Parts: sequence; C-alpha cells; structure tokens
Amino acid sequence: MPLPTFAKDEVKVIFVLGGPGVGKGTQCANLVRDYDFVHLSAGDLLRAEQAREGSEFGELISTYIREGRIVPQEITIALLRNAMQEEVKKGHTKFLIDGFPRKMDQAIKFEEDVAVSEFTLYFDCSEEIMLQRLLKRGETSGRADDNIESIKKRFKTFVDTSMPVIDYYRKQDKVITVPCEKTMEEVYNLLKEKISDRMSI
Ligand code: UDP
Ligand code: MG
Repeated sequence: MPLPTFAKDEVKVIFVLGGPGVGKGTQCANLVRDYDFVHLSAGDLLRAEQAREGSEFGELISTYIREGRIVPQEITIALLRNAMQEEVKKGHTKFLIDGFPRKMDQAIKFEEDVAVSEFTLYFDCSEEIMLQRLLKRGETSGRADDNIESIKKRFKTFVDTSMPVIDYYRKQDKVITVPCEKTMEEVYNLLKEKISDRMSI
C-alpha cells in the first residue's frame, strides 16, 4: 500500500468507537457543526465503495456488512487514507474517525502507516438501548444491516473483536468514556465537556 502523502504529525486523529446504533454518527455531526473537525465514518466509506460502479470490492463489502463482520483492514485503511488525503489538501487536519478501528489489526496498521491517535472516544451504552435505536433507524435507513439478524451479529462482533481495541487504548490511558443512554442533547453536552478537558476545541 502506498504511504500517505501527508506526514503523521500533520494531522490530529480522534477515534470514535461504541456499539452499533449508539449514536456515533449523530454526535460526530454535532461536533462538525460546532467545531473545526472533519468526520469520516469507516462504515459510510465502505458503503460508498460498495456502491461505486466498477469497484472490485463491492460484493465482498456487502457480504461482510450484512454478516456484521469486519472488512479486511487493507480495504478500510486505504479508503480512510484517501479520504484524509483529500481533506489535508483542502487544509483540514482534525479528524473524527468514526467506527474505526474495530479490530486490533486495524488499530496497529493505521497507527503504523497513517497517524497515531490523540485519544479514543468510547460511547458506552446497553445493548437494549442500542437495539431500540437500531430498530428505529432501520425503519428509514435502508441499511442492509439494520435488521434483527444482522444486529445480533454486530453486537457479537463488537464484544469479541472491537472491545479489545478499547481495552488496548484504555491501558495507554487514551480512552474518554461517554455514557450514552440519555437524550442526544444531554450526551452531546457531556461529550463537549469531556473533549475540552483533554484538548482545546
Ligand atoms: N465495517 C468494517 N470495518 C470498519 C467499519 C465498519 O468492516 O472499520 C463494516 C462492518 O461490517 C460494520 C458495518 O461496516 O458492521 C457498519 O458499520 P457502521 O460504522 O456504519 O455501523 P454503526 O456502528 O454506525 O451502526
Ligand atoms: Mg455509524
């Protein structure tokens, strides 16, 4: 994989993790509205690549997403790196990387090749509430994975594969935990407070 054209220390990266349906995308959109962040969702980039005419990965991505499995890291990291590159060209340097890294190999490879994260925002929520939010979203999202079979698989992947990433960063004292069961406004106020304790925003 070619190396990015920007230097690691040219960018500031915050990882945004948490179970499916926890509200990562919503809260990232709030931060983009109010501050100088670029929001890149790994899932959205994968869905765009899946839909791109002529993509050699379309079918593979679609299968992985439906099954709630993690797409091989080479694909996701290449998509993220390209998207970051475009933003750096426009002078943007602060990134919220949403829904990534969800597996240890992604975390290691991304930090080796692209950039080291400042910290990780971990949105913490019970499965019961996430399930409610996902089923609600499924009424209108048109997403192939917002159905009960896929959701169960995504919960399992989150616990088995993604929680170890959060534990890894926790050991480095690089996790900010945000409880997410209250309303979106209350969660956002807490989120802003917690981020500004850690960096100037
Ligand atoms: N996905 C992946 N690698 C990533 C991010 C997402 O393979 O780094 C796939 C995975 O199958 C996941 C799906 O994309 O279940 C949907 O991810 P998204 O972040 O959109 O879901 P959310 O957590 O926001 O509900
Ligand atoms: Mg999302």
